[in-house]
Amino acid sequence: MPHVITQSCCSDGSCVYACPVNCIHPSPDEPGFATAEMLYIDPVACVDCGACVSACPVGAIAPASQLAPEQQPFIALNASYYPEHPADQKLPPTSKLAPVIPAPEVRGNHRGPLTVAVVGSGPAAMYAADELLTQHGVRVNVFEKLPTPYGLVRAGVAPDHQTTKRVTALFDRIARRREFQFFLNVEVGKHLSHDDLLAHHHAVIYAVGAPNDRRLEINGMGLPGTGTATETVAWINGHPDFTDLPVDLSHERVIVVGNGNVALDVARVLTADPDELARTDISDHALQALRASRVQEVVIAARRGPMHSAFTLPELIGLTTKANVVLAAADHELVLRDLAGVSDAVTKQKLEILSKLGEATMPAGPPLRPRIRLAYQLTPIRVLGEHRANGMQFCVTGTDEVCQLGAGLVLTSIGYHGKAIRDLPFDDIAGVVPNNGGRVIDPNSGEPVHGAYVAGWIKRGPTGFIGTNKSCALQTVQRLVDDFNAGLLRDPISKPSALDTLVRARQPTVVDAAGWRAIDAAEVSRGSLSDRPRNKFTSIADMLEVAANAPEPPLRRRLADRLRQLADLA
Ligand code: NAP
Repeated sequence: MPHVITQSCCSDGSCVYACPVNCIHPSPDEPGFATAEMLYIDPVACVDCGACVSACPVGAIAPASQLAPEQQPFIALNASYYPEHPADQKLPPTSKLAPVIPAPEVRGNHRGPLTVAVVGSGPAAMYAADELLTQHGVRVNVFEKLPTPYGLVRAGVAPDHQTTKRVTALFDRIARRREFQFFLNVEVGKHLSHDDLLAHHHAVIYAVGAPNDRRLEINGMGLPGTGTATETVAWINGHPDFTDLPVDLSHERVIVVGNGNVALDVARVLTADPDELARTDISDHALQALRASRVQEVVIAARRGPMHSAFTLPELIGLTTKANVVLAAADHELVLRDLAGVSDAVTKQKLEILSKLGEATMPAGPPLRPRIRLAYQLTPIRVLGEHRANGMQFCVTGTDEVCQLGAGLVLTSIGYHGKAIRDLPFDDIAGVVPNNGGRVIDPNSGEPVHGAYVAGWIKRGPTGFIGTNKSCALQTVQRLVDDFNAGLLRDPISKPSALDTLVRARQPTVVDAAGWRAIDAAEVSRGSLSDRPRNKFTSIADMLEVAANAPEPPLRRRLADRLRQLADLA
């Protein structure tokens, strides 16, 4: 039985290099890789060795014979990427492997090892650290403003996507390397400046993501009963800054504006069975609110037609196999119209799935689970309600026709937006730091900003999946290493050991790797009491208390650290 890539594919390409017969595509050297919604295994060429299974960081690959019923559609989906291969015969194994993109090689005659500060600890940051640490002697210090690492993997991935969160095992392995150090609970821009970091490092990579929501500038947004999907996801995931977010689930309908994967995440969680969510790492406060929820329908309102749906095909398959998803009759007609004119294979498959959805003619409500309605051609005009939101007014896109939809909660899900970084240039419209392949560029002079690099969403904007950050970070690290090799990066003026002293002086409650491991272990242990993968702390004070009582690192580690300090002093 061939192997199959399923919904949680992160597209980092690890499986491609593990495959001995090069049967996983698009590979990172192929043109479609950057925009592919997932990777696909050729069932005809696959030799069933399972090497890809071990390489996949998110457990997305399994033999076709072992797929759960809701994963069955992925067998045809993988095969559909290779329409020219005959399904009834095996291709002879090839020895032509996918070309590996070489790691950047650190060279040159420098006074000390290349030392890099990485700001942020999400996927782009951890992949950048991983690439840097492929080189002997390179040192990486990761700075994160929360006491817990891994950014959107912890606070953005929906709790019912636990396999996607498995990528943290890879990040934990990276963080355990000897030349890697965590400085958690430290905010660059507040506790440390860019110049502070450059005094102790050759370069700084900012991998801070795009923390803001894009705002919908229409009347009524901001009223009680309005909010954003990204904040709601953070609340669901127990992000400490969002524990008190008012999420009013006391009305029957929620409207989500925009139909990207974040909108699908929110709609799925708001309509899921709380007993199933209770087996995930969802925050206690969200679970409690969902148990008391009176929501019967979540309407996902897109301003364009079905052909331009922003959600990806794997997520649509995941949604329709799990949730009760419907379409209004008028939208069914739009789907059929689009289907008649579509040429792109992925869009066609999305439309075929949409065309088979049930109709939204029956009233929503018990005894059925709450439902999700995908709605199209609705351009938001204003939020209805005087003192709190009670619905939304739309126009039918491209016409003067106006319609209204009642709702007790209106969430926008129209994408993320980057936030300016102190001491660096910023493109306010695109929400990114101006850069050339990750090298920060001053837009006035057109010259690189000394020692400053970016990776991830703050570099390229809020697009792609967790694994997209791997090739993005590699490109940035290549630029950085080129600059180091060319002698363009000044050596740090302080000894590495002075960094600890500086950070502790500015932020006495800095959390190190041992502190994070203690928080992690305590959360997993709390979770095991109720059969959950973890029960997260949602207050920073609680996290810091656990970190402060972290057991001493093993003697071997302390000796290695001491030897390193002595080497610095020599
Ligand atoms: P997104 O995919 O960019 O979708 C944004 C949606 O907002 C689109 O439907 C867009 O419609 C709509 N929109 C934008 N401006 C609007 C306006 N003024 N009025 C009405 N609608 C408007 O954003 P996202 O859902 O936040 O996702 C961000 C990235 O994270 C994506 O790459 C996504 O795939 C990724 N992500 C992946 C997963 C996963 O793989 N499971 C989960 C979450 C997020 P138009 O198309 O008409 O502009």
